[in-house]
Amino acid sequence: MELNEQPSWLANWQPQPTNHHSGPRVAPKPAAQPEPAKPKANFQGFIIPERWPCDNGARREPVLDADLGRVVRYVGWKKCMRCGKWFFSEDVARLRMCHETSATGVLGCRRKDVDYDLL
Ligand SMILES: [Zn+2]
Repeated sequence: MELNEQPSWLANWQPQPTNHHSGPRVAPKPAAQPEPAKPKANFQGFIIPERWPCDNGARREPVLDADLGRVVRYVGWKKCMRCGKWFFSEDVARLRMCHETSATGVLGCRRKDVDYDLL
C-alpha cells in the first residue's frame, strides 16, 4: 500500500446521519400516535363488557382478566334451560337458568332460596 492511498475501510466509509450541522440530517421521528383507549378494569381486575339488548344469543363477549390478559368467561344472551325465557347470562357456559325477576315480579328459575344440589 502506498503512503497516499486510502485504506479500504476509509474508502467504504459513509457519514452517518446526525443532527450536527455539518453532516446529513436524521429524519425527524413521526409524532407519537395516541394509544386507543383501553376499557377500564373493575375493582376486581376484570374487564366486563356492557350489557346489550337481547339478540337471541347471536353475540358473545369475553370477560378479560386485566392482569393476566386472559379470557375468564363469556357473557351473552342465553335461553333459560328450564322456562325457555331469554336472559343475560354472566357466564354462558355455566349460568344456564334465568335469574332475573321479571317486570311482573315473577322470580327467575335460579332462585336463591332453592338449593339446586338437592333437586
Ligand atoms: Zn327460567
